[in-house]
Amino acid sequence: MYHALTDEQTLTAYEAHITDDQRDAIETEAAALSDIRVAHINTTASGGGVAEILHSLVPLLNDVGVETDWLVMEAPDEFFDVTKAMHNGLQGDRSELTDEMRETYRSVTVSNAEAITEPYDVIVLHDPQSLGMAPTLAERFPETALVWRCHIDLTDATPAYLEFVQSYLEPIDCAIFTLPEYGDAISGVEKVPIHPAIDPLTEKNRPLGELSGEAADAADLTRYPFDADRPLMVQISRFDPWKDPVGVIDTYQQVTESVPEAQLALVGAMPDDDPEGIVVYREVEEVAEAEDDVHLLTNLPDAGINALQRGADVVLQKSFREGFALTVSEALWKGTPVVGGNVGGIPLQIDDGENGYLVDPNDIDETADRVTRLLEDDQLRRRLGKQGRETVREQFLTPTLVGDYLSLFGDVSGGSDTQ
Ligand code: UDP
Repeated sequence: MYHALTDEQTLTAYEAHITDDQRDAIETEAAALSDIRVAHINTTASGGGVAEILHSLVPLLNDVGVETDWLVMEAPDEFFDVTKAMHNGLQGDRSELTDEMRETYRSVTVSNAEAITEPYDVIVLHDPQSLGMAPTLAERFPETALVWRCHIDLTDATPAYLEFVQSYLEPIDCAIFTLPEYGDAISGVEKVPIHPAIDPLTEKNRPLGELSGEAADAADLTRYPFDADRPLMVQISRFDPWKDPVGVIDTYQQVTESVPEAQLALVGAMPDDDPEGIVVYREVEEVAEAEDDVHLLTNLPDAGINALQRGADVVLQKSFREGFALTVSEALWKGTPVVGGNVGGIPLQIDDGENGYLVDPNDIDETADRVTRLLEDDQLRRRLGKQGRETVREQFLTPTLVGDYLSLFGDVSGGSDTQ
């Protein structure tokens, strides 16, 4: 277990992105929680949506006076093979969960739970990876409120994986889901819906004109292998079969029948806790090889992601499953319309025809049609893009998330003192 480092941040810096009521509520709730200590636990300090959220949430909780640590589990590769299989099984992949996998999961989560020496009032365990720590933590720190933050959609989970998760829920005081229905299949625990959020002040999301030095260089689209003056489709995602990067290339190929000058950038990272990334990347690379205007970009700095989300004419998120998809809000915030799979958290963010389009992710014709419509109509792109920014401003910015977590901490900690 190690402490993830975050940059400092203050709530005051969000002045332009917070209402007076929101600020008052945050200050009042934080004042009542000034004597509690909180830890968030996950499996990677960079890459993927959970790390993205914690980099913003943790410093802000500290700034408002709630002492908060972010701890990252340490684990061997075979643990991440198991947890990726769990992730896939919980999203609907009908694979087997063997006794050996259960034992790897149990032993690594127990040893990480044993590595925690300081008491906390509230511990938030993110995703299935860290949930296994719950029984050991409950035994060692009976006064600690344990929260499970499940970021994935469990509505089509494979029973063996669901039962495995359920077997760890007994000590959990409260489970957070992005949508209430994600938690319908589990029982015996209080469930609370909380939406994720994006941070308007990070290098990934702030206006490009505010970037300088290396960040400004990374945001310079003339340095990238595509032609910034031609139509550009972009998908930004881990290389994960659920995000269908190969289907995005199929879509691109169909789009070029109407818009031959179109280009595609598939941008992806390989987080430490996703062993499948490199395998999927190789598959995508093979398909992309035949296409001069399909570009695979990996491990871009945040300012580069920012510039691509702004420079794209259309952002795709053609996922088959998606707990939320921060990438959708990130693009909408930049005024870029998104064509997204009508699954999981994507319809929470996209209002079909208003700020983007929702498509059946199995339907390449439909997806290509919506992308083509947008590429061929500047006015439509501008109208949908403008509305997208409003959607995110109203619902999916970090101050809202800070308020939601503070309310939750108030509920579960009962204002308890650190043991
Ligand atoms: N991301 C990134 N670089 C990449 C690919 C993704 O920084 O090459 C970021 C992306 O901008 C977003 C997060 O990783 O902030 C992905 O979160 P999302 O909820 O979309 O998907 P997850 O990876 O959690 O399934």
